[in-house]
Amino acid sequence: MKKGTLTGQIETLSLGQILGLTEKTVLNLFTELSSNEYSRTFTYTCMLMPKRCQQHFTSYASDAKAKNLVKKHVYQHLSELEKEGKDVVNFLN
Ligand SMILES: [Zn+2]
Repeated sequence: MKKGTLTGQIETLSLGQILGLTEKTVLNLFTELSSNEYSRTFTYTCMLMPKRCQQHFTSYASDAKAKNLVKKHVYQHLSELEKEGKDVVNFLN
């Protein structure tokens, strides 16, 4: 993985590479945060496999709870992919 490719359009990473990333980087890559100042809600959307899953998690007043939930969710995906024997993940984002 070359430096500076993390925000590219199409990425191919091996599961090993992904699992070696920090949680923060994993969240940056595979989730999207949107917030609504008016209703004070923070929503994280799972972007790991947009065709199969676009689950989102919302929390109020702070993004902490939603972030925690989406993090668990994304790592759940990763362990499922590992069990399925996939070693390369192609994703769009
Ligand atoms: Zn998901």
